[in-house]
Amino acid sequence: MATIKKPYENFLKNLRKAAKTIDLSSQALKKLEEPEHIHTFDVSFKTDDGKTMTVPGYRVQHNSARGPYKGGIRYHHEADLEEVKALASLMSLKCGVVNIPMGGGKGGITVDPKKLSRNELERMSRAYFRLGTEKGIFGVHKDVPAPDVYTNPQIMAWMLDEHEKVLGYKSPGVITGKPLELGGSLGRSYSTSQGGFYVLLKYLESIGKKPSDTTIALQGFGNAGAYFAEIAHKAGMKIVAASDSKGGIMRAKGYFEAKKLNEFKKTTGSLRGNFCEGDTCDLEKMKREEVREVSNEDILELEVDVLVLAALDGVVHAENAKNIKAKAILELANGPVTLEADEILEKRGIDILPDILSNAGGVTVSYFEWVQNRSGDVWEEDYVIAKLKKIMENSFEDLMQIKNKYQVSYREAAFILGMERIVRAMELRGTI
Ligand code: NAD
Repeated sequence: MATIKKPYENFLKNLRKAAKTIDLSSQALKKLEEPEHIHTFDVSFKTDDGKTMTVPGYRVQHNSARGPYKGGIRYHHEADLEEVKALASLMSLKCGVVNIPMGGGKGGITVDPKKLSRNELERMSRAYFRLGTEKGIFGVHKDVPAPDVYTNPQIMAWMLDEHEKVLGYKSPGVITGKPLELGGSLGRSYSTSQGGFYVLLKYLESIGKKPSDTTIALQGFGNAGAYFAEIAHKAGMKIVAASDSKGGIMRAKGYFEAKKLNEFKKTTGSLRGNFCEGDTCDLEKMKREEVREVSNEDILELEVDVLVLAALDGVVHAENAKNIKAKAILELANGPVTLEADEILEKRGIDILPDILSNAGGVTVSYFEWVQNRSGDVWEEDYVIAKLKKIMENSFEDLMQIKNKYQVSYREAAFILGMERIVRAMELRGTI
């Protein structure tokens, strides 16, 4: 059953719950409930047949008390202001949780990018960023975007180029997630998964479980999921099932080598595609490889230690939460567990390592990229990853202190941690 998405409403509910726990002043809460700026504009660009296409574009700047706004730009036919507002607000908290000196923002265009040619995509991306630059929205000390759903390093390169054309000088720190040749950071491509992995390691340590005794089911095998599989496997964790948009596969016995999963994915473009075409599966091959089919719904309900969600939002909801058998959930995706499911899982004693901590490795290395661009330095990959590790581990420990102090869930503790840091910055500035 499809769930109705109310991302901003859900953000507000979580925010108010955390605010109540710490007895936050109504003045401070009010500041966090509304973004500082909401920009909406029409993005017009030429299509390949010479016509003009106009699509709605957004940039929401939620809170800048701790530093310039930071957050991705997504292209999606279902992207709307409500979603962008929620994501911008969560970015403020996320930057607070990992204690980097940045605020929260998010951008988007309501468009189906798959229907655009490469040239159209370029013209649209340039038009969006030109408008944002001319209106004074984006700037290295003001608002620093990054990639999100269906945007990538090439799109960041076009946007940077357009920005610098308007300014008339170089300003690589205005956008992150760029190609390495244009000032991108080493380690950025797998930083989200690496950060999530460090959070999981700390969690396992806190419950006295060894990585090598930990079984994992992984939903989503794109950027976040595939890198996570590689990193987790290398650490001895046992991946027993994995899926992508075409369906999933699980081990009849034993576990998957990450290399093998990557090979499967590369060969046919999907994990299941190696064994099945439509409803017809090559049973002999499955037997040989000791593989069974598992649907995207069923993978969520496998009996494993950790369910890693690295695909879409809202996949664990009120209807299936009661069937989840994993002992813990790692949210690499943004918002994969709905508010209703959160409550059910909490009552059932299933720990959820929340997105605003678990996938914050991406924004952390984006921040490193911004620092490198501003200083003109290029950091070595080992240095980037060592710094990321420290930040993720410290953040987990900070979160645990709050969790223990207030006896709340991991998500609520993360909200409190991010919120307290933003509120302190607002107090110091005298804005509350
Ligand atoms: P991606 O597009 O590279 O991968 C998405 C994966 O999900 C693909 O394997 C796709 O096949 C799979 N998928 C789609 N529908 C599915 C379904 N119904 N069931 C199972 N799998 C399905 O995206 P990504 O960059 O890996 O991002 C995944 C999630 O992680 C998103 O929520 C994103 O916002 C979040 N995230 C990513 C990053 C990052 O740095 N990549 C950072 C923070 C958060």
